Amino acid sequence: MKAVADFLAAHDPSTTDPAEFLRARYDAGLAWVSYPVGRGGLGLSRSLQPEVDRLFAEAGAPGNRSEVNGIGLGMAAPTILRYGTAAQLDRYLRPLWTGEEIWCQLFSEPGAGSDLAAVATRAVRDGDDWVVNGQKVWTSGAHNARMAILVARTDGDVPKHRGLTYFLCDMTDPGVDVRPLRQITGEAEFNEVFLTDVRIPDSQRLGAIGQGWEVANATLNNERVAIGGRAARREDGMIGVVAQTWRDRPELRTSELHGELLRLWVDAEVARVTGVRLGQKLASGQPGPEGAAMKLSFARINQKLSGLELEILGAEGLRYSDWTMVRPERVDFFGRDAGYRYLRAKGNSIEGGTSEILRNIVAERVLGLPPEHRVDKDIPWKDVPR
Ligand SMILES: Cc1cc2nc3c(=O)[nH]c(=O)nc-3n(C[C@H](O)[C@H](O)[C@H](O)COP(=O)(O)OP(=O)(O)OC[C@H]3O[C@@H](n4cnc5c(N)ncnc54)[C@H](O)[C@@H]3O)c2cc1C
Repeated sequence: MKAVADFLAAHDPSTTDPAEFLRARYDAGLAWVSYPVGRGGLGLSRSLQPEVDRLFAEAGAPGNRSEVNGIGLGMAAPTILRYGTAAQLDRYLRPLWTGEEIWCQLFSEPGAGSDLAAVATRAVRDGDDWVVNGQKVWTSGAHNARMAILVARTDGDVPKHRGLTYFLCDMTDPGVDVRPLRQITGEAEFNEVFLTDVRIPDSQRLGAIGQGWEVANATLNNERVAIGGRAARREDGMIGVVAQTWRDRPELRTSELHGELLRLWVDAEVARVTGVRLGQKLASGQPGPEGAAMKLSFARINQKLSGLELEILGAEGLRYSDWTMVRPERVDFFGRDAGYRYLRAKGNSIEGGTSEILRNIVAERVLGLPPEHRVDKDIPWKDVPR
């Protein structure tokens, strides 16, 4: 691409300060090429992004910490782009893309996970600010985050979906208390976050008061695509790991394992090709509920494959190299051993919406089946028993 070549000619990656290089790349519209001019993009097709990223990587360009900022890049940015004011786009998108500001997602609560609309964290207006009190849970990467996307209740007198508002929360506010939660893998990727009198200026409200459910759904659709809808090469990801083990270790093979590997290879390939089709759909607009189906099949296949990897490795697969409690910057899924992958993949059918909930979404919004019975849909939130 000529724009990339011109940019690289003017900004030599080997001599330019990495942060300056990334800011300049954003300003040149070569960050997210599908975003509008002035917002990190050139208004081009999203399908050009992999090629642009490849050219920058080959030239030795600095990375933007995408492995740490999945929530920022995959979920916060598209939501801010869609619902943000001009001032919000100016303030947040550039440091988000350059990796100078890492984001986390303050959605789930002890009483609101699958039923996200039941959020009880309150935001009360006080002059130009909102004062936020409540508890969030399972907040991935909150210990690294400078900013958060937050859903809070601003009106308890209307039914639950209508009383929510979406905010951009500064994690350095003194009222934000982040505490680690240790997982089955031994590490603490996620956290409990206690919010006590956190002040959020009204200028950091994303969307209208009471529009939080709609804005949150835009984020969740992007999340499912980010988790499950990556455009991948054949044998990318977990299927590649298992196929490689199979090729490298003929002494571990049995005909039963062979049958299972072939079945999962076909499943992984079908998922990959479906992902390509979803990518084409995305190129022409916002992700719809179809992202739910991709995330659903990703979780199933990843869990089956990580189980198969253990089966193939036999006793060797039971080895677990490191169970010390660490607070990692990122999920190093492929850098760790098979035991880690097996345990970490268990979370795939919970994070980003459980598989049961995703099946409901596919049933209702893709297949058009009758909706689940919802008894609290029309009752004011404050009157719903908790
Ligand atoms: C690794 C990991 C990272 C995460 N990171 C974040 C994060 O960064 N930010 C964040 O906000 N959240 C995060 N989460 C939380 C995640 O979104 C929730 O755990 C998830 O939405 C489920 O909510 P819950 O845990 O409250 O379970 P519940 O909603 O209590 O569900 C319990 C069980 O009941 C089932 N169930 C519930 N309702 C229905 C229904 N209507 N029909 C059928 N079955 C139903 C569920 O499928 C599940 O099996 C993370 C979770 C994990 C595992």
